[in-house]
Amino acid sequence: MKEAKFATKSIWAGEKDQLAFGATQVPVVHSVSFGYDDMDEWYEVAIGNKKGHIYGRNTNPTVEAFEEKIRILEGAEAATSFSTGMAAISNTLGTLLHPGDRIVSIKDTYGGTNKIFTEFLPQLNVDVMLCDTGDHDVIEQEIEKGCKVLYLESPTNPTVKITDIKRMAQAGKAVGATVVVDNTFATPVNQNPIELGVDLVIHSATKFLGGHADALGGAVCGSKELVEKIYHYREINGATLDPMAAYLLLRGMKTLHLRIEKQNQNAQEIAEFLKQFDIVEDVFYPGLTEHKGHETAKQQMRGFGGMLSFAVKGGVDTVRHLLPKLRYANRAANLGSVETVVGPARTTSHVECTPAERAAMGIPEGLIRYSAGIEDIEDLKQDLEQAFQALPQDLAVQS
Ligand SMILES: *Cc1c(COP(=O)(O)O)cnc(C)c1O
Repeated sequence: MKEAKFATKSIWAGEKDQLAFGATQVPVVHSVSFGYDDMDEWYEVAIGNKKGHIYGRNTNPTVEAFEEKIRILEGAEAATSFSTGMAAISNTLGTLLHPGDRIVSIKDTYGGTNKIFTEFLPQLNVDVMLCDTGDHDVIEQEIEKGCKVLYLESPTNPTVKITDIKRMAQAGKAVGATVVVDNTFATPVNQNPIELGVDLVIHSATKFLGGHADALGGAVCGSKELVEKIYHYREINGATLDPMAAYLLLRGMKTLHLRIEKQNQNAQEIAEFLKQFDIVEDVFYPGLTEHKGHETAKQQMRGFGGMLSFAVKGGVDTVRHLLPKLRYANRAANLGSVETVVGPARTTSHVECTPAERAAMGIPEGLIRYSAGIEDIEDLKQDLEQAFQALPQDLAVQS
């Protein structure tokens, strides 16, 4: 039989084995432990010779359905899950890196990831090399010096820069590095990093996968060998995904393909729409032909994603006036939800950084991150337009 297409998989994948009582939907199994009357069977399950569950910190049927669905959507051999996206990232790095190791990454990773690189890994005597995100030659040179892990994110948060994943993965593999990509912004609808040669794909499921801003979670997909090691680290360290969250994420993922298709479209239209306003200094979206990473994005992505950002003249002052005027947007730290979400980078993705650190990353204080929701595009455009028009005339806007 022919392999099912993405839309079909996002609805059906991973669920069948967890159904009980003739239910058509995966049950939320809240039980912390799983009991056995047969001591020998218990032992066989405990040592992994027989399928089954022992204790909720390790495995759970609802959580397993979520893991199986994301595994199939990313085209991976194995997947495991976490309480948050940051837990997925920290547990993966904790599994792979030891004192004396070197990791190569980029300056534009998610703010929390950047903190792991600058604050926590150095404490463990891990050598961290962060390269300019757009500069493929420099990244390649640093990889060639040798590294245990190559860690990438594409598109990046919040200026949606694009890294050539295939080229970097090749360089990483050539020196024996484990290549990791945070695929949160792209989602498996737009990009499958494993097809591009990477070893591990990470998700903050809190964002697009769940899609409704009502559950935290994370996932790692890759080879059985690597995922088992990361799973072992997580089962001991305890950053387990909660069954209720797993259920909400699982339900969200059933409409992933529909939501992302709409979010791709809305983000593209908003990016183009924003360019006409004098107050808008810069628009960042990989779907714009003038975007530096457009050609690479076209090669490695099937869609350009729901995330864009734009810088307004007048910096923080303009942002302070503009954002509260939007009717159809949450001013909040999350992204990837069905509702449009806006926020200044200095309050959201890079709140952990100092203004100097943000400036060094090329993040202007007047940068607004825009996560396109699935609302009607005409309403979103009109909303922005009225907010721009309502800005005070005396705003000190220098062009
Ligand atoms: C939000 C986010 C994370 C962290 O995920 P949490 O679920 O909030 O811990 C990691 N990477 C990217 C790209 C993100 O947007």
